[in-house]
Amino acid sequence: MTDPRSEIDAYGVVGNPVSHSLSPKIHKLFAAQSDQPISYEALEIKIDEFASSLARLQQQNYLGLNVTVPFKQQAWQLCNQRTSRAELAGAVNTLLLSPNGGLTGDNTDGIGLVRDLVKNRQVPIKDQKILILGAGGAVRGILAPILAENPNQVIIANRTVEKAQTLADDFGNLGEISVSAYTKIEPIKFDLVINGTAAGLSNELPPIPEEVLSMNTICYDLMYNIQANTTFVDWALKQGVTKAFDGLGMLIEQAAESFRLWRGVNVDTQAVARSLRNA
Ligand code: NDP
Repeated sequence: MTDPRSEIDAYGVVGNPVSHSLSPKIHKLFAAQSDQPISYEALEIKIDEFASSLARLQQQNYLGLNVTVPFKQQAWQLCNQRTSRAELAGAVNTLLLSPNGGLTGDNTDGIGLVRDLVKNRQVPIKDQKILILGAGGAVRGILAPILAENPNQVIIANRTVEKAQTLADDFGNLGEISVSAYTKIEPIKFDLVINGTAAGLSNELPPIPEEVLSMNTICYDLMYNIQANTTFVDWALKQGVTKAFDGLGMLIEQAAESFRLWRGVNVDTQAVARSLRNA
């Protein structure tokens, strides 16, 4: 473990579980690429000890932390300052710590997704018909940046329709959102279908009707797997779509935005993506 009192600036990702996290690899690649003298570690925090662990890390001079499941909402509550995108998302995935006890929270997940779609993959959002599956924390984080791109239509389908309705109510001032049960999704061909459910974690698919896809529909799974296609990507390709992506690009882009906030430098995310996929 790096001694956080050393000359090297200390960063990390906090979560539970967190040992599977790719963030240490990604940030170490960013640091090497940009000659930034930092350490970055995965730090597992006990479920009921988030606030006290954060205070301890702050005392140990950690300068920044990424926050992952299940602490993003708690991190949001503990911040004494939040960016407007964190405010909207109701969750924080990036913390800036100052030694005097200041805690600033940001949420870079949504901008990470939009950059991966629009910049890396040339997938437009503007004027597109978009179907979003799921209404959990990740979807809450991506809605504002998606609506900022002016899509033609956004429908959120979720098992628990009330949760989708809450999102539509909370974000309705930023753009029009409709909600639907899976069995009642409007039978049109969508331009973009985003899987924001956690179904893939148990190798399941959300119950999406295949009629919403044409071969030109682009499918994007927030979940990622560097070894094989995710369940959703696999399913989409079997339905005949020509473009289906997993969320590794989003993960790298959200990390790059955290790195920029902490270190003030931009990094080459594509080089990191190649390095991870080829590893
Ligand atoms: P949450 O637990 O907050 O939400 C889970 C959502 O998935 C809910 O809408 C839930 O529906 C739905 N769901 C779960 N199981 C099923 C199922 N079997 N069938 C249909 N719907 C299901 O999770 P998050 O929003 O935090 O995460 C969602 C996904 O996004 C995860 O796979 C996560 O790994 C990924 N993610 C990726 C990131 C990246 O950088 N690439 C960043 C953040 C998240 P209901 O409300 O009805 O329970």
